[in-house]
Amino acid sequence: MLIDGHGRVVDYLRISVTQRCNFRCKYCMPKTPFEWTPKENLLSFEELFLFVKVAIDEGVKKIRITGGEPLLRKDLDSFIRMIHDYKSDIDLALTTNGYMLKHYARSLKDAGLKRLNMSLDSLKIEKAKFIAQKSVLHEVLTGFEAALDAGLKVKINTVALKGVNDDELISLLEFAKSRDCQIRFIEHMENMHADDELKGMKAAEILDVIGQKYKVISDGKLPTSPASIYMLEDGYKFGIIDPHKHDFCESCNRIRLTAEGFLIPCLYFEDAMSIKDAVKAGDVKGASEVLRKVLQNKPEKNRWEAGVANETSSRAFYQTGG
Ligand code: SAM
Ligand code: SF4
Repeated sequence: MLIDGHGRVVDYLRISVTQRCNFRCKYCMPKTPFEWTPKENLLSFEELFLFVKVAIDEGVKKIRITGGEPLLRKDLDSFIRMIHDYKSDIDLALTTNGYMLKHYARSLKDAGLKRLNMSLDSLKIEKAKFIAQKSVLHEVLTGFEAALDAGLKVKINTVALKGVNDDELISLLEFAKSRDCQIRFIEHMENMHADDELKGMKAAEILDVIGQKYKVISDGKLPTSPASIYMLEDGYKFGIIDPHKHDFCESCNRIRLTAEGFLIPCLYFEDAMSIKDAVKAGDVKGASEVLRKVLQNKPEKNRWEAGVANETSSRAFYQTGG
């Protein structure tokens, strides 16, 4: 079992398989041009898999593949299959913007993927284009249907932004409900790459908007999820991911691995250690030692609540996987 320096059990690994993305979401990507990390600096799937085996052997029970846009990485289904074949009961999930899902949903499911989270910030063509800085809505909704048709369980992720999609929270909730999917509204996490003009909605503001139409009952928090869960009177449940909340980190059970091999104990802070040398040398013991050190140094809590400008990690969400 993996236990961090604050006594929390860590059993969830998020792997960002690429930082590349086909969207330019305003809350994630910088406005200014930048270079992608050269492909040769990325770990191969075999190298990532060596670490995955270490993590599973030590107690990881849930793995989420993310990015950038993970479906841009060639042969992602083969990586999913490697993990599934190693331990078929691992809770194996993906986070995607959905744009390319229509091509891959079936093969991902066949490879062993159980479920996915798909980002959907607007149901309006122009608004979705404003956020992603590309006309995306049609492809995203087609991808969503393809995932459901393939038999994948889908959750919808929506970053709630003032003056951008605050008028759509109810229609997004009703859309998710009509398709029997849970929606999770995510508080915007300030970071130095996001558009400065964006203002995120806090959980209370999101609940106020939904409360104007529905009676909302708090349903607590699952110990293994970052989302606070709420219920409508008819039993439909939705979530709010509220990292600004003071006790958000109490049940944190996760670590993150980037495509370049940095193991990150907390999204907020800069600290990370590299597993690159260990996995390139096939050094299982070395990889395990890095994992233990990272856990020992996992911070107790983030500082989003404090709202200190420019204190957050210099790594962007498209690098860490969100
Ligand atoms: N490209 C995929 C996608 O968009 O779903 C996976 C990577 S993306 C970085 C993972 C999640 O992070 C998405 O749900 C996205 O909405 C969220 N995210 C990105 N930047 C964020 C920010 N500044 N605040 C809150 N959530 C953010
Ligand atoms: Fe790409 Fe996802 Fe970031 Fe949007 S949130 S730019 S889709 S990585």
